[in-house]
Amino acid sequence: MTVSHPIATSSPLPLRACTECDLVSEVPRLSPGEAAHCPRCHHVLAQRHNKPATHVVAYALSALIALGLALPFTFISFEARGVKRAMGLSEAANTLLQQHYEALSFLIWWGIIILPAIYLSVSIYLHLGPLWNYTPVARRGFGRLLKRMEPWMMADVFLIGVLVSMVKILALAEIGFGVSFWAYAAFVILMLKTTRVMDHDWLWTFIGGPDRPLRHARAGRTGRQQNMTGCPVCYTLNELDSDQRGHCRRCSGALRLRKYRSLQTTLALLVTSIILYIPAMTLPIMTVTTLGDSSPQTVIAGVMHLWGSGDWPIALIIFVASVVIPIAKILALGWLSWKVWRPYPSRPLLRHRLYSMTELIGRWSMIDVFVVALLVALVRLGSVMSIYPGLGVIAFAGVVILTMLAAICFDPRLLWDNPRDQQDSVNEFVAPTGTS
Ligand SMILES: [Zn+2]
Ligand SMILES: [Zn+2]
Repeated sequence: MTVSHPIATSSPLPLRACTECDLVSEVPRLSPGEAAHCPRCHHVLAQRHNKPATHVVAYALSALIALGLALPFTFISFEARGVKRAMGLSEAANTLLQQHYEALSFLIWWGIIILPAIYLSVSIYLHLGPLWNYTPVARRGFGRLLKRMEPWMMADVFLIGVLVSMVKILALAEIGFGVSFWAYAAFVILMLKTTRVMDHDWLWTFIGGPDRPLRHARAGRTGRQQNMTGCPVCYTLNELDSDQRGHCRRCSGALRLRKYRSLQTTLALLVTSIILYIPAMTLPIMTVTTLGDSSPQTVIAGVMHLWGSGDWPIALIIFVASVVIPIAKILALGWLSWKVWRPYPSRPLLRHRLYSMTELIGRWSMIDVFVVALLVALVRLGSVMSIYPGLGVIAFAGVVILTMLAAICFDPRLLWDNPRDQQDSVNEFVAPTGTS
């Protein structure tokens, strides 16, 4: 369902400032399965789920068990020219560590095992509170942590990376999936289900109390016009002090009217990622050694090789994920940043959709990094056939992380801001009308 266009009344229902476009709207009382969308940018303002605590605990616990089962057994087995090899999940990261690619090894451990495990454990800890009738210690801090971890979860991207790696070496060897692979696949599905059933509103009502309406808040105007802002963690509408800063009254997180130096940070990250994009594309991401012959492979060479051997769907996936998405993200964010400087923004919805897309697809570029990590760990048959990582993969991972950070630092509300609002809000808050 969609929230009807807000009418300026002092309603007892909580008002929400959209974290994407800053419009303050009234959120109706929702039943399980319903969602309220922002009338201006259609972003989800609130969503109700049925029995969120029970479902989150059930799915998160199952996901943790599946992750635990994915660690000790064989993940993938590999047989080429009479030589057999079985690899566990943790070997993908450990092999990189042995080859002095510490940063990459850390990234893989962190993205596919440690971070999801922390996320699931924190989810269980917080949601068991209402089920077992206890108040979790440091619940606000854990609640904020949960929200901040979400963009960095890479388990589903890794799983696609596994499938792509298998296609890459299918012509060279016989591949078998072990118990750990199936456990990891189950973990990914359960993990996605956990994030789907999580009701952040419900959770924050338990953690920080109900979302109480603000006396001065008016629907139909922007947060900026009222010197208010929506909390990006718990969505509560908050009043800011005279220097446009404050703390959330529900989750205690630090707030600003707009993200601190959003454009400068975004542009700095974009420029760095453009510089890194050059070695990422020109340096080899891995070197394949077969019977003493070494052939370094860049991202593009890998795509051409796949295309040439008839695996064009995989070639297309890698080309889009590794070449098109990073450059499209850089161009899109650069263009959006430039547009923010225009005095009167036009077609903000179109720009907002472009931004949402860059945010959504960014982490999928990590596929090729995972492919290299897996191939390096798996194909270690000495002089018969071995794969070694190349410096290009570090630069490439850098591009993906920097563009993800750039998207996070960019404040989408700037796309909707009207320069006159700031002046209006200053006038209004210097001399409040006091009509509320
Ligand atoms: Zn909105
Ligand atoms: Zn908050």
